[in-house]
Amino acid sequence: MHDVAVVGGGLTGVMMATALSHTGLDVALVDRDNGMITDTDERTTTINAAGARMLTALGVWDRLATPPAPIRRIAIAEGAPPTGLAARRRAQTDLSWQTDAAPMAFVVGNMTLRAALGDSIAQRPVTQFRGSSVSAWQAGDDAAELTLADINGTADSGGASSLHAALVVACDGARSHLAEVAGLGLRETRQTQTAIVTILEAERHHDDTAFQRFLQTGPFALMPLDGTRLSLVWTLPNAEAERLLAVDDTTFEAACLTAFGTGLGYLRLAGRRLAWPLRPSWRRRITAPGLILAGDAAHAIHPLAGQGYNLALADAAVLADLLVENARRGLPASHMSLRRAYAAARWRERAAMTTATSGLNNLFSSAPAGIRRLAGLGFTMLDRLPVKSVFSDIAAGGQLAEAALLEGRLPG
Ligand SMILES: Cc1cc2nc3c(=O)[nH]c(=O)nc-3n(C[C@H](O)[C@H](O)[C@H](O)COP(=O)(O)OP(=O)(O)OC[C@H]3O[C@@H](n4cnc5c(N)ncnc54)[C@H](O)[C@@H]3O)c2cc1C
Repeated sequence: MHDVAVVGGGLTGVMMATALSHTGLDVALVDRDNGMITDTDERTTTINAAGARMLTALGVWDRLATPPAPIRRIAIAEGAPPTGLAARRRAQTDLSWQTDAAPMAFVVGNMTLRAALGDSIAQRPVTQFRGSSVSAWQAGDDAAELTLADINGTADSGGASSLHAALVVACDGARSHLAEVAGLGLRETRQTQTAIVTILEAERHHDDTAFQRFLQTGPFALMPLDGTRLSLVWTLPNAEAERLLAVDDTTFEAACLTAFGTGLGYLRLAGRRLAWPLRPSWRRRITAPGLILAGDAAHAIHPLAGQGYNLALADAAVLADLLVENARRGLPASHMSLRRAYAAARWRERAAMTTATSGLNNLFSSAPAGIRRLAGLGFTMLDRLPVKSVFSDIAAGGQLAEAALLEGRLPG
């Protein structure tokens, strides 16, 4: 029997199993994919400073084949790019945060991150069951039983059809099967928005700046990459996204200029346009007997602030500390107090991020401009209220969660 079985081998699951392998416990990883990097996830992930410290401690950072691009400044603006007199007036309400010291965050390609995580876990004492899908699970008093189904006869589970672990950590994505079986309810928003993700090459250098322009149709976010390249996540109503995915490159580039403005000069397409349907979701309860949820299985937030994976990193860092403390007290990983402590430790940050990201998206893209101004909402409010500090905390990262790994130390 394993102490911990991590289910799901996405960015969260592999990172979670790697982190928990440093607790001295016996860790297994189950994933229905066979571990080969065959998909084309051309998204990038923004990793805050605390997350970077954690991935460095886990040996992942040094294995990134392409150096992460630093973010030293965040520039946020509301509404369509202004012109003439309006430009001068609007400039006063645009917000930005800057650091001259260490970068506040880094941008990493998802495929690069996956490869580095794969190399790192291969060096750790983690038993991997690849090509195996968890088709059923049952929590007993001291252990949970997972039933594994072999996908296409490729499983490396050595023929095993079941696996026992004191604790199961479900990292099986937003539509978590394990959470559903355990009755951990999912509150999902209707899918009305789609993100267009691609790479743009700007005429002028981005100066290590992350840009967010809150348009009424949805936020237009640019994250800096190497040279003058930037990663675009453009949130749009479904129909508009569909239209912009179908137009030719020149028309798309023109649409980007209209949405973002000419601050960086001409924006040339330098990658494929991919569509990601957005369906932020929330679970009030993230634990059940024998089960803990982490990553998107626990909280799939709106990508406007690029924070989904940072929450997952904090999930793993907090759980690693709790497991070490639990073992020190002579308790098994299945003990109820561990689940309670995890749920309590993750509540504040989960709630703050979900509210901040969905709230900002709704505020700027749903409420008509007139109503926003009448109610004193919009950027004047953003500048005055704690949302601004939430945003800068979000950017700096790790402020709401405390754990050894987020400080760059291994647990224990
Ligand atoms: C457009 C977009 C842009 C984003 N940008 C950012 C960003 O800049 N910064 C950031 O921090 N976050 C960002 N995010 C969020 C981030 O991508 C996700 O939080 C992260 O990828 C979630 O990873 P995960 O491993 O939790 O889930 P998934 O990627 O969904 O992985 C789930 C895994 O579980 C496995 N699995 C599922 N069911 C089973 C089963 N029954 N048995 C076995 N295995 C199973 C699957 O094979 C898969 O490997 C973005 C999201 C979107 C949509």
